[in-house]
Amino acid sequence: MTSTILVTGGLGYIGSHTAVELMERGFDVVILDNLSNSSESVLGGIEKITGKKPKTYIGDIRDREMLQTIFKTDHIDSVMHFAGLKAVGEGEEKPLLYLDNNVTGSITLFDAIMKAEVKRVIFSSSATVYGESDTFKYTEDMPLNPINVYGKTKLKVEEILRELKKTNPTLGIAILRYFNPVGAHPSGYIGENPKGTPNNLMPYIADVAMGIREKLFIFGDDYPTPDGTGLRDYIHVKDLALGHIAALNKLEAHTDLITVNLGTGKPFSVLDLTQVFEVVSGKKIPYEVVSRRKGDVAGCFADPTLAKELLRWEALSDINAMCKDIWRWQQNKINIIR
Ligand code: NAD
Ligand code: UDP
Repeated sequence: MTSTILVTGGLGYIGSHTAVELMERGFDVVILDNLSNSSESVLGGIEKITGKKPKTYIGDIRDREMLQTIFKTDHIDSVMHFAGLKAVGEGEEKPLLYLDNNVTGSITLFDAIMKAEVKRVIFSSSATVYGESDTFKYTEDMPLNPINVYGKTKLKVEEILRELKKTNPTLGIAILRYFNPVGAHPSGYIGENPKGTPNNLMPYIADVAMGIREKLFIFGDDYPTPDGTGLRDYIHVKDLALGHIAALNKLEAHTDLITVNLGTGKPFSVLDLTQVFEVVSGKKIPYEVVSRRKGDVAGCFADPTLAKELLRWEALSDINAMCKDIWRWQQNKINIIR
């Protein structure tokens, strides 16, 4: 029998790529998204890739009635929970909004999940839940100490899931801690589409390559890293999506609670990424070094060993493929997003 997966936030960046991978593997996908950071045009991209439009509810995870309708109508086996607000700076300015959307929203969703006796939940957590590490390398058992409101909302939801497991041992739970998702679907039909000025490095570089922005501002070149700029673990969004399928397979075999890093384990600096993007796009990326951005750490990358052992998953795309795919999407998206 086909399994039905509810993908909350399924019109967003990571959710839409995961919906595609699920549909291509024969899962029935139902999307719930309130369009706070996405648009219905994403459905067109999903249809171009998979030949189908997933059933979609435009609504909020905090809407109990809507959740009740979905779980009554669609016989959901598993939930992949991507819906959330993710802008670190906005979280500092509007903590209540972030707590309400990300934490209250998740509680409301989990309550509906328990009532509907859903078997599995996969949650989008983040490397921001970790405290600082001198080695820049993170294993899942390292201390958790998020320094911003956004990271705190992720940690709270992790804690709620751990509590839920104690009283509901048959519920399978995967907490996936993403490092830096980048890239786009290789078809060029779906990708990241940040509203306004991008906060993140990759979409900003892509805008500079397109001539939409004059130059990249590099936030500090005096970090204790080989070239002085920040080191991060960039992971292709398609690999990340496949990590969710691997987690789903794992939970189908064992109703565990697992907490796993999804990263490549390979750090790249801001300058590394800029240089690769120049080669891939054939465009010059002018840049200016400015002061460090508040809250940034010098380096952060995954130890991906547990994902390999537990999920039999590892990221396959290299940094060239990530840049190539985002560049293709960057050139296409103007014709795709209405
Ligand atoms: P995104 O903003 O592109 O997607 C999130 C989607 O959720 C959007 O379509 C938005 O409209 C929807 N949404 C938000 N609040 C909702 C609500 N209350 N009800 C229904 N829908 C709602 O973000 P993304 O990059 O795809 O991230 C997906 C998840 O992964 C988020 O939870 C995010 O915090 C987490 N995450 C993202 C990153 C990253 O760098 N992109 C890193 C670590 C973790
Ligand atoms: N960065 C930068 N200029 C930008 C955006 C980001 O120099 O316009 C740097 C940032 O300081 C960090 C790296 O790029 O070292 C990745 O930042 P991003 O915001 O993409 O991800 P983060 O790891 O902060 O979530």
